[in-house]
Amino acid sequence: MENCIFCKIISGKIPSKVVYEDEEVFAFHDINPIAPVHILIIPRKHISTINDIGPEHRDLMGRLALVSKELARQHNIDERGYRLVINCGEEGGQEVQHLHAHLLGGRPLGGVASN
Ligand code: 5GP
Ligand code: ZN
Repeated sequence: MENCIFCKIISGKIPSKVVYEDEEVFAFHDINPIAPVHILIIPRKHISTINDIGPEHRDLMGRLALVSKELARQHNIDERGYRLVINCGEEGGQEVQHLHAHLLGGRPLGGVASN
């Protein structure tokens, strides 16, 4: 997708601090972290929102979860706990229209889905 920031990050046109990549999944540090660990885990393939996934993405979404928990372990937040968030659409607070999971941790995160 030409005008997608995250597609440009995957292709290297926009620099990022990459923490993981394989043939399907890409992960990098959020530019504006709201917690000591704030990593974005995204599919290489452009999918706009979680509304756009179907049964054909079952394996991809499983990989996203597996990569996320592995990154939590590597960043030493697996035992303490962390949050994995996927925002969807306007009221869900999604600003970038390329499906992504936020891995947040390293501080107490408060009540249900709060910052
Ligand atoms: P959303 O609000 O869509 O769930 O989250 C988008 C996230 O992408 C935000 O946390 C924002 O800080 C991050 N972000 C936006 N533009 C860039 C960028 O160019 N580089 C990086 N590393 N993160 C970005
Ligand atoms: Zn994209």
